Formats: sequence, C-alpha cells, structure tokens
Amino acid sequence: MPTTGTKIIQYRPAAKLVVLTVVLCACISCSKPEAASNTATPPETRTDFKFLREAMIKVASFFQPMGKPQGFDWLASHREPGQTFDEYLDSKPTKPTKERQAIYVLPLGTLTARQKRIIDITAGYLAAFYDLPVKKMSAEAIKHPLSVQDSRRHGYPEVEQIRTGYILDEVLKPQLPKDAAALIAFTSSDLYPDETMNFVFGQASMEDRLGVWSLYRLDDNADEATFLRRTLKIAAHETGHMFSMHHCTKYECVMSGTNYLGETDRRPIDACPECMAKICWLSDITPAERYKKLVDFCKKNGLAKEADEFEKKLAAVTN
Ligand SMILES: [Zn+2]
Ligand SMILES: [Zn+2]
Repeated sequence: MPTTGTKIIQYRPAAKLVVLTVVLCACISCSKPEAASNTATPPETRTDFKFLREAMIKVASFFQPMGKPQGFDWLASHREPGQTFDEYLDSKPTKPTKERQAIYVLPLGTLTARQKRIIDITAGYLAAFYDLPVKKMSAEAIKHPLSVQDSRRHGYPEVEQIRTGYILDEVLKPQLPKDAAALIAFTSSDLYPDETMNFVFGQASMEDRLGVWSLYRLDDNADEATFLRRTLKIAAHETGHMFSMHHCTKYECVMSGTNYLGETDRRPIDACPECMAKICWLSDITPAERYKKLVDFCKKNGLAKEADEFEKKLAAVTN
C-alpha cells in the first residue's frame, strides 16, 4: 500500500462510508448524493437564478481553469466528470433545512493551543463560507471519550492511530444534534480506517452527516498561515460534500480533489463560479453578501491576499 494513498477505497459500502486517502477527498459517495430527509425539492424554474448566473460570469476571471493534470495530481489518477451548477440542481442535493441549519465543529481529544486556535478560526470560516450558524461542540458533551480503546500503533517511527469507524459510529453518531446539517470533528490523532491502510487524513459518512479529520499530518512542518489555509480548505471541501457537492474539475477550486499536500496548497480557499452558485443557492444568500462576509473574515484573521481577492470579487458582482 502507498504511504500516502492515491486511490479511493470503499471502506463500508453498506453504510456508505468513504475512506479518505488524501487530504481533500470524499469521492465515491459524492458522486451519488444521498436521499436524505433534508433533500431539497428541485427548482421548478431556473429563471430565479439569473442573478447567480450573472455573478458566475463576473467572477470567472478570478479563477484558473483546471489544466492538464501533472504527475501525481488528483485528476491524473481519477476520472471525474465534475459537476456544473445545473447538474447540481438536477441532482436533488442535500441542503440545510429550517430544522437542520447548524454546522457543528467538534475539537476532539487532546489538541495543542495552536490546533485549538486554528479550529476556532476554521469555525468562523465555515460560518462565512456557507452562511450557516456554526456551533462549537464541547468534547465534554461527548459521552463516549476518544481513547485508545480502538487504536493501533503503526509506522516508523511508530505512532498511535485511532480507527475512524470507531470515532464515526461510536463517538460521533450517538451525539449528532437534531439541528445539525453536518458535524465535523477535528482531532490531533493520526487516523486509520482498517488494516489495509497506513493512514487516512479523514473519513466522512454522508448518510449520517458526520466527518472526522485529522490535523496530525497537516501541521507537519507548516507555518501558521499554511496550516490555517490547509484546514480551511479541508473544512470547506468536506462540508461541501455533505451538501452533495461533487469534486470540481472546471477550475482550480476548493472543491477539486487533491492527492497530496502540495496540490492542496496550490488550490484557493474559495469556491469557483460553479461551486459559488451552488453554495449561494443552498444557503439562500447573494454572492455579494457572501463575498462581504468572506472579506470580513479574511481581514480579521490576517489573510491579506485572500481578503484582497474576495474584495475584488465583491466589487465585480456589485457592478
Ligand atoms: Zn473530496
Ligand atoms: Zn468549483
């Protein structure tokens, strides 16, 4: 098995769980949106979305079209069709409802001060990115403690890894709040799905609206800004999957699949025009309102380059 996976393995098909062998990936289920109870009714008419389509055109120049994949890039080893805004609307996507609005963020296990800070900032990003209430869940609220009950020691040097299925099924699932559109847990522990894999960055259960992501390998040799950007991208990307968004192949986009950290690092923290329209539709927010929130978030958190880019997009869609 590769040390860093380049392929997707269906871990538990019956439960529709997907093993993530790469930093930003949850790909098998995302091609088959779940028929969840909060599935949206497809729109009767598309004329309502004229302003979204106009905004898509206005911000297109800020994104780089996806080029020919190189080397170990995600698309070099994965044939994916992508998903336009119209295809997304046709897919009966799962979206937040009045009853299930909140994105829950759970810091799980022992975390460093830096990791806690990054998770707090990431919660703010999700709130701006999806225009949804984000609630931080206390680890103390979890009845089943994250422990070494279902772990192994693996690798050279040997490291303790916790089995993802245990976290999803035993720790998170019984605690999913009724108003949760999604629950994302971040842990500093290294993770593994089963004995066939060396590790995984994270794993999601679309059906259960749960995900667990490890910061263990994102933190490696990264300065604070790089670590933050990686975490923002993971959170935005995986939450997008929970709302039935597929991998993006049209642009270099936060929803594009990635195979390794270098590919993650070259992606923007933002969603391309097609994916932006999906987010605005599912969150019922205008592109201008959304970009304004993202400008404010980036300014507040020292992301000057991104703040500048969001400001330009805001100007483009308000002109
Ligand atoms: Zn993915
Ligand atoms: Zn996209």
